[in-house]
Amino acid sequence: MNEDLLVLATTTAEREFATQAVAFLSARYDRRRSLTANWGEGDEALSLFHESTDAQERAEANAARAWQRARWDAGFGWIAGPVEYGGRGLPASHDRLYRMIEGAFDVPDMSPLRIGLGTISPVLVAFGTPELIETYAVPMQRGDLIGCQLFSEPGAGSDLAGVRTRAIRRGDDWVIDGQKVWTSNGSFADIGLAIVRTDADAPKHRGLTLFVVPMDTPGVEVRRIRQLTGGHSFAETFLSDVAVPDSHRLGEEGEGWKITNRALAGERRSVGDRSHEMNARALELLRTLAERVGRSDDPLVRDRWAALYVSLQSARFQQQRMQAVPEDRLTGAERAIDKVVVAWAFRDLGRLAAELLGPSFAADTGEWGTFAWTRWSLGALGYRIAGGTEEIIKTVIAERVLGLPREPRV
Ligand SMILES: Cc1cc2nc3c(=O)[nH]c(=O)nc-3n(C[C@H](O)[C@H](O)[C@H](O)COP(=O)(O)OP(=O)(O)OC[C@H]3O[C@@H](n4cnc5c(N)ncnc54)[C@H](O)[C@@H]3O)c2cc1C
Repeated sequence: MNEDLLVLATTTAEREFATQAVAFLSARYDRRRSLTANWGEGDEALSLFHESTDAQERAEANAARAWQRARWDAGFGWIAGPVEYGGRGLPASHDRLYRMIEGAFDVPDMSPLRIGLGTISPVLVAFGTPELIETYAVPMQRGDLIGCQLFSEPGAGSDLAGVRTRAIRRGDDWVIDGQKVWTSNGSFADIGLAIVRTDADAPKHRGLTLFVVPMDTPGVEVRRIRQLTGGHSFAETFLSDVAVPDSHRLGEEGEGWKITNRALAGERRSVGDRSHEMNARALELLRTLAERVGRSDDPLVRDRWAALYVSLQSARFQQQRMQAVPEDRLTGAERAIDKVVVAWAFRDLGRLAAELLGPSFAADTGEWGTFAWTRWSLGALGYRIAGGTEEIIKTVIAERVLGLPREPRV
């Protein structure tokens, strides 16, 4: 049993590791059921964003924490993490292998922990002091802390280097004032990684510094934002006279821009990583929808469905190829391409559903498997913005891959 998962391992060491991983997972969770869907049966949910109530959100976060703790205790929590901090010190390929194997099991949704594990912890390890790593990265990896990203501001999104939240040195502390927005997980995160201006006179990209801000520090106020799909995955974060010790500075003063870019590359990867399962499910539901509306033999519909299948498969292979490249050999453009291709797939899946559904795409009639597509399509817009908008990503690709003339910069 589960032999199909062991073939993912390519070396003897990986096979041994994969055997341990399968034993750990199969003792706790069943394999995911086959995706083959029948119209009207089972869960029709297709949201790209969580649409949870407060209580559900807390329960989801707790389930993710508990699962991360179980992984940690079994040695699968921080597979490629440094041994001196409790990681297992294995090559990144083992980490990828584990994620592929785990994807076959019905484990809890890890979305609440993704920013902390995928974008904040790696930059803490790369640029943080041992104290910052011990205090924040390790507990995040153990599932004890949840992180959020305090980057965007009302006047600084694509032009992130234009942030106006400022920090002023006062004795051993820095005092932060300003406003952040679109803070995913903001309402339940324990710590935030904030990019702020520490030198108003330096050139825009050089006057920025990063700080780890415990979200329960006096002066941090989180206000939820209601999204148009109904849930509230984001928040505005107001920082008023928030004092953080200098020991919470990540990297040197003025080094914030470089570190932020590393964090954003991690964010793009996590958009790509989590897309396969959602897309496979959406594609399968789309097939049953075409049958339901009597268009599964329509050559135009078949052509579009097949084109989607092909583009999703090629995105998947591109990701696998990219995963074989050591992180320090990536230029950033690879992840950018991946992110934009996945976001387009989300969009195109929704477009085909809209065409098949006609008016019931927009009207919530309660019919199984219809309005769910509206949520999908509205959520898809968010993925075209998160982690860098499509226009910004195209600029990255134009400059770094195609070698086109650079955008004018200030
Ligand atoms: C799902 C989601 C999750 C997010 N999570 C977080 C989070 O956890 N933490 C956080 O800090 N932020 C988060 N964000 C915010 C996100 O990083 C910003 O929305 C994004 O960077 C765009 O910034 P903006 O919204 O200010 O749009 P703007 O930058 O104002 O852009 C508006 C439009 O102008 C275009 N544009 C801007 N500049 C250029 C240019 N130079 N060339 C061509 N076109 C341009 C853009 O492409 C866009 O179409 C999240 C956003 C989403 C959608």
